[in-house]
Amino acid sequence: MSAQLLWFRNDLRTKDNQALSAAVQSGDAVLAVYTLCAKQWQQHHLAPIQADLIVRRLAQLRQDLALLNIPLVVAELGSFKQVPEYLLSLCQQHQITDVHCHYQYELNEQVRDEAVEHLLSQQAISFNRHHGECVVKPGRVLTKSGENFKVFTPFRKAWLASLTEQSFSPLGSPAAVNKGLISQPLKQLLEQPPEISCSYPRENSNAWASDDQQIIQQLRDFSASKASDYKEHRDIPALDATSGLSPYLALGMLSARQCLARLYLEHAEDIASQQGGAFTWLSEIIWREFYRHLIAANPRLCKGEAYLGWTESVAWQSDKALLEAWQQGQTGYPIVDAAMQQLKQTGWMHNRLRMVVASFLSKDLLIDWREGERWFMQHLIDGDFASNNGGWQWAASTGTDAQPYFRIFNPTTQAQRFDPEGEFVRAWLPELAQVPGKHAHTPHTWAEKNGLSINYPLPIVDHGQQRKQALHLFEQAKSAE
Ligand code: FAD
Repeated sequence: MSAQLLWFRNDLRTKDNQALSAAVQSGDAVLAVYTLCAKQWQQHHLAPIQADLIVRRLAQLRQDLALLNIPLVVAELGSFKQVPEYLLSLCQQHQITDVHCHYQYELNEQVRDEAVEHLLSQQAISFNRHHGECVVKPGRVLTKSGENFKVFTPFRKAWLASLTEQSFSPLGSPAAVNKGLISQPLKQLLEQPPEISCSYPRENSNAWASDDQQIIQQLRDFSASKASDYKEHRDIPALDATSGLSPYLALGMLSARQCLARLYLEHAEDIASQQGGAFTWLSEIIWREFYRHLIAANPRLCKGEAYLGWTESVAWQSDKALLEAWQQGQTGYPIVDAAMQQLKQTGWMHNRLRMVVASFLSKDLLIDWREGERWFMQHLIDGDFASNNGGWQWAASTGTDAQPYFRIFNPTTQAQRFDPEGEFVRAWLPELAQVPGKHAHTPHTWAEKNGLSINYPLPIVDHGQQRKQALHLFEQAKSAE
């Protein structure tokens, strides 16, 4: 009795899952597996809160798959390198002829997959990778001369032009596998699955959903009631105006195609005219695609290299005390500190603030963007290599920002513009609770004027001076090109 193996990775969903659909369509019994490797998570700096969400999702996925008569094995392995051998032994144990999964575009994952393919092919087991992480598969959106795009806006134009009907027609959940096909060992796994074991540290992620119903409802609610105002409201961190879907997209609990389909259903006109809130939101989904296409085309990004080679010569400064002040939200710049508190306490940070704190670390503290990239991965519930690396490199001017390196955010004017009444800052920094309105962004000036003292650090650097120094460091590196 032959069977198919479905290998879950960054695609923890049963809906719009090409690999699952292909496995079920074969007509064979299907076994699903997830290989969990704490050592690899450590190397990837996976946040304990994200690890918790993965484990909760696996438990949920096991229930959803059981309804399709598919058992899910969660195997905790000592090392990433054991994956090929482990999969081969599973295949041999269950007479598996075909393995299905989705492409992952990161370098280590590609190398691992090649090793798996090689080993399986020696036993005539076929290894089928499907494209499911992106709406448009990497390599398909190219310039007229066949190159990869280096900046976002022309990429978006070409990406939109490449859409087909399939792009917004996600697959549903497949029909259940015929129980008559299932072997005794698979039946046993279905009826009495072993406990999920995970030795990696975990932090409570219960504030985030692990089941499809809630996640899809969140997408629907966003599309119905927030998408239209997204363009006006998305930069205001005190508002709950963005979708909050990033953890689900990062882990593949929701697909970009599902998002696209919902948008087209309710906002087709906005999207056709490329205007309005829904189109702005779609553009964010395209940013996600852009960064995935970028790492697929530039594997060196996965080795920690800067996208713009000449920026490797920027003489970043290593100052432990400044780095720690940034990490702990003690910089004396309220918008930076409030954002870092939001990250620490919730595992999530508003996009505008990710840009502000990333600019602050690299251009005000002159610290290597890779320190910030790592800290984000260690704390984000939506940690995602491509988006995080892309976002950091964009903010540090080592990446794909169409503006040159002299775009340097002023943290105080950013705060006054996007948190004009100081609402966000006061919500996260109780020590500034008594500072009224916009004064929350310059609390020491306000306190001095009013003869008061506040228990809040003075700014650790002077923005004007640091800006000049950042420009100098970039100019030096550029002239050495
Ligand atoms: P929405 O505004 O509702 O956007 C919808 C979806 O589009 C998001 O869920 C996300 O999947 C995608 N998206 C939105 N903005 C971007 C963007 N700028 N780049 C790529 N995709 C985007 N996003 C991550 O998912 N994981 C990360 O690790 C990550 N790190 C970042 C680091 C920095 C320095 C910066 C500047 C941005 C980073 N982002 C990252 C992008 C963005 O900040 C988050 O995706 C967004 O804040 C998530 O909130 P949301 O789901 O409410 O987004």
